[in-house]
Amino acid sequence: KAKERGKARYEVFVQEMHATVEQRWQIETALRQSLEAQQLAIAYQPVTQLSSGDMIGFEALCRWHHPQLGPVSPEIFIPIAEETGLIVALERWLLHQACAQMQHWQQQFPALPLAFMSVNISPVHVMHPTFVADIHQVLQATHLAPAALKLEVTESLMMHNPGVARERLQQVRAFGVQLSLDDFGTGYSSLSYLHQFPFNTLKIDQSFVHQLRATPHDTGIVRAIIAMAHSLNIQTIAEGIETADEAALLAQLGSHYGQGYYFARPGSADDMTRRLTAAAQRSSDRSSQ
Ligand code: C2E
Ligand code: MG
Ligand code: MG
Ligand code: MG
Repeated sequence: KAKERGKARYEVFVQEMHATVEQRWQIETALRQSLEAQQLAIAYQPVTQLSSGDMIGFEALCRWHHPQLGPVSPEIFIPIAEETGLIVALERWLLHQACAQMQHWQQQFPALPLAFMSVNISPVHVMHPTFVADIHQVLQATHLAPAALKLEVTESLMMHNPGVARERLQQVRAFGVQLSLDDFGTGYSSLSYLHQFPFNTLKIDQSFVHQLRATPHDTGIVRAIIAMAHSLNIQTIAEGIETADEAALLAQLGSHYGQGYYFARPGSADDMTRRLTAAAQRSSDRSSQ
């Protein structure tokens, strides 16, 4: 709801300010100012291991609360950040925050199986000349183990310049960073991407999970995606799980991981610290029995 309100208000804002060069520049300026003033934030959403119910990782999602407009959806501001090139600075900032946070959580909760922090990376950033250096730098600066960073890219990355995309992804894979193919099945899905690019994880798009909700017997596509991923030694994360039934079904179909409102909505770092504290308490209760 808040998201819809933010979007609606933003659309009014955009209509009012419609698309002169100066006005686009004003939107960019507002976003840039928010970035510099540290008014952007990150929501973290747990990723759950379906077999055990353990929180195994997080996805970092960018949030913009504009002082006048209120919350603006990333579906709105990410494309603007991409068009203006501001996405590179935004993701550099977000990578640093998220990696430092994960490093901190791993230190704070050594008994928990916290495996990865996922960060969404725009194709504009992957294609930017500093991309490989940006990844190297954040690992150096935060001391996060490279294998604990997972970069999520979408199929659109491979569309325009697959040669350069593959080279860049291979360079960061060589650091030990993991790669995830986000929103799988929504774009220009080609099985050859999975084969030719060094992905560790595939995220089954929410639309497939929603389709299972409507027709739980119609499991063919999801079953096929999971089987194909397994045969390529790629793990799967099912997105948008909202009910216990969906979680059970996806586990039964063989998806390793799941993410969605059923497990947890995206929340602040403090929210996640509370969840982790509770999980650590449960695990120490279990081991002391
Ligand atoms: P995504 O990477 O596919 O992220 C998952 C989206 O699904 C998030 O929306 C999340 O809040 C939402 N979601 C999670 N669980 C559920 C559920 O159970 N039901 C439903 N209906 N939705 C669920 P959000 O946070 O609005 O982000 C939207 C998109 O914006 C993301 O999709 C991602 O593509 C993009 N985005 C967010 N932050 C960044 C960023 O830092 N860089 C880039 N390039 N893109 C970003
Ligand atoms: Mg994502
Ligand atoms: Mg996704
Ligand atoms: Mg998405």
